[in-house]
Amino acid sequence: KHVYFRKAKMRVLSVTQLNCSLRKYSSPPGMSLNRDVKSLRSVINPHISRIRNIGIMAHIDAGKTTTTERMLYYSGYTRTLGDVDDGDTVTDFMVQERERGITIQSAAVTFDWKDYRINLIDTPGHVDFTVEVERCLRVLDGAVAVFDASAGVEAQTLTVWRQADKHQIPRICFLNKMDKTRASFTYAVESIKQKLKTKPLLLQLPIGEAKTFRGLIDVVTKEQIIWKPTSDSDDGKNFERKLLLEADDPNLFQEVQDARNALIEQVNNKAPLLKVADLDDEFAELVLGEHSENFDLIPADKLQSAIRRVTLAQKAVPVLCGSALKNKGVQPLLDAITMYLPAPNERSYEFLQWYKDDLCALAFKVLHDKCRGPLVFVRVYSGSLKPQSAVYNTNKDCTERMSRLLLPFADQQIEIPSLMPGNIALTVGLKQTATGDTIVSSKASALAAARRAGRDAEEKKSVSDIQSLLLAGVEIPDPVFFCTIEPPSMSKQQDLDDALSCLQREDPSLKVKLDPDTGQTILCGMGELHIEIIHDRIKREYGIETYLGPLQIAYRETILNAAQATDILDKTVGDKRHFVTAELEVRPRSGERATTRPIVKYAESVIETLPKELQGAIENGITNSCIQGPLLGFPVQDIDVTVQSVAVHPDTSHTMVSACVSRCMQKALKKAGIQILEPLMNLEITVSEDHLSAALADLAQRRGSIQEIQSRQDNRVVIAAVPLAEMMGYSTVLRSLTSGSATFTLELASYQALNSQEQSALLQRRMGLV
Ligand code: GDP
Repeated sequence: KHVYFRKAKMRVLSVTQLNCSLRKYSSPPGMSLNRDVKSLRSVINPHISRIRNIGIMAHIDAGKTTTTERMLYYSGYTRTLGDVDDGDTVTDFMVQERERGITIQSAAVTFDWKDYRINLIDTPGHVDFTVEVERCLRVLDGAVAVFDASAGVEAQTLTVWRQADKHQIPRICFLNKMDKTRASFTYAVESIKQKLKTKPLLLQLPIGEAKTFRGLIDVVTKEQIIWKPTSDSDDGKNFERKLLLEADDPNLFQEVQDARNALIEQVNNKAPLLKVADLDDEFAELVLGEHSENFDLIPADKLQSAIRRVTLAQKAVPVLCGSALKNKGVQPLLDAITMYLPAPNERSYEFLQWYKDDLCALAFKVLHDKCRGPLVFVRVYSGSLKPQSAVYNTNKDCTERMSRLLLPFADQQIEIPSLMPGNIALTVGLKQTATGDTIVSSKASALAAARRAGRDAEEKKSVSDIQSLLLAGVEIPDPVFFCTIEPPSMSKQQDLDDALSCLQREDPSLKVKLDPDTGQTILCGMGELHIEIIHDRIKREYGIETYLGPLQIAYRETILNAAQATDILDKTVGDKRHFVTAELEVRPRSGERATTRPIVKYAESVIETLPKELQGAIENGITNSCIQGPLLGFPVQDIDVTVQSVAVHPDTSHTMVSACVSRCMQKALKKAGIQILEPLMNLEITVSEDHLSAALADLAQRRGSIQEIQSRQDNRVVIAAVPLAEMMGYSTVLRSLTSGSATFTLELASYQALNSQEQSALLQRRMGLV
């Protein structure tokens, strides 16, 4: 364990050193340094049709890291086969990830496969980081879902799969770990069909399973692809590809024949039993016409183009298999990525029409480098990006200077003179830009795009509406946990503030607040692990030892009844008299999604007399009073507010108007009766049969309600809803209850009311009475 740790540390050092020393052009591996710049340029900006921006999505431990790393090796970008178990791979470059064996930060890595440029965008596998996944999905054009062939579809993949559906991302499935004892191709395919509700296109069949797994059949070409190990340390670079003949293996031959016919019929909708929708008309014509009698004569390339169209239209999903660890199946997977997943110009992005040929780029990841400051990963959608130029950040409303542009090849970064649409690079010099920001060439160009967008969406009137429409931002769910964080001494507070602001730019799901009563800094995060990792990073990357207060649940407050209140503010400051009277009504809202934004309405009489400029001040007052509820100071959700009357003396400042409204709101909320709401989580536990009852008995003690228990091969999957408050330290408990055999995922489902007993117990705890 100790050696593994040291190794990881060394690796990070070498990346930093490399970052600092690379100032000039260098060549990608496999190219000699003295090639002329022209040929280098063609490598730097490949034709858009040859770019693939791909993400890999997987449940923890399915083999995402191993697969990525094999891809880099076979494409010639790393010289040795890194081993995940040694913490020595290229994309997982943060120390914590190696120690915990999970991928937290998503980095992009670039490599070429045959004549294609592949930008691999690593998506995190832990459920605490689904926001990261969502953000990454915005910059992908296609994705590979990696499965453990012995486990089928697991919880996290399901979550990410649904997010990919939302962003309409074409996908390929890779059934990894075919060498494992319980690997089952049929089971995994069935699980994809059932759980992901998708139509798998079986493009390969395994030759052998588990211990005997040695290769694949390409169902489209009927070729067998076999890896014949020459030694124990065989790297899988060499394999044999040849047509499968009936004489080779009559049974297998028949199986492939059937699989190919099934594939064609499926693509062509002729299989009555499969009852799939009509997937591809063009191909149907071919099959019904000249090849209706003999599918064998259908040329492979025609079938491949039909599969491509079907995949891009997301009517079905190609399924491949292999074993990354045993070096089998990765090269055909790379071929499939280039063959079946879309190029950037085959995707439709609504906002492209507004920018035309002007620059529009998205900053999708910020990393902080000790030597060069923030490094921002960007994807260009339209126009081009050049080093030594000024760009405008629409989210931050500021102009920034970008000094350098780098391509993130596996183990080195190559400086480039420009970045064209569809491509991804690292920028140096952007200081304000945070993850998720939109970058354009100038404010004028942003406004021009906003005008074009305004024409497209007449109903959107205000500038801010139009701007938010342009941004490819990600909805970040509210954090469910928080705790105080303190530096070892007051003299370190500034360093801590700086570190936190860097971390927040990298990870917008981290929120940092100041407690107005105690002045303490508060960290708010998506899960226990999330906060733990931030704590760890502050220590490692910024050298500050901090103390965390106890982890607390982010409750919410809401009201039980409607109530009215009035308030008068009468204050003379200097020679000005500030005078406001306000009358409000608050009501509980029902049936809507939990939101902390109050809906504000005005009584008829108010609308007629209220000056427009006061509306902002009133709404500020209302919103502010909902940030900190009257009972425990948690955000107030699901309320409607009606402003019944407001009278303001002409000399009164807007701040005083907000203050009066806010005070009036507090009164009304108190009168309305406060109900505390707690986060309710969806919990999914995968556990072996013999530990099931222990896990269930434990759940019963946690106010958990079990919704379903499914069977998954030898395992049981428990689906339950449990209050977050009962889940502190659950991973340790579950591990010891099940001898480490169970896994679980936790996801925010909704907020539910505490009963009066629970609520008063919580109040007493918070007031320090218990
Ligand atoms: P990730 O969490 O999805 O990134 O998964 P990793 O690539 O870190 O792999 C998790 C574990 O599964 C490691 O111990 C790998 O050695 C192992 N593993 C990865 N691919 C395979 C495979 O094809 N077969 C087997 N048997 N194990 C694999």
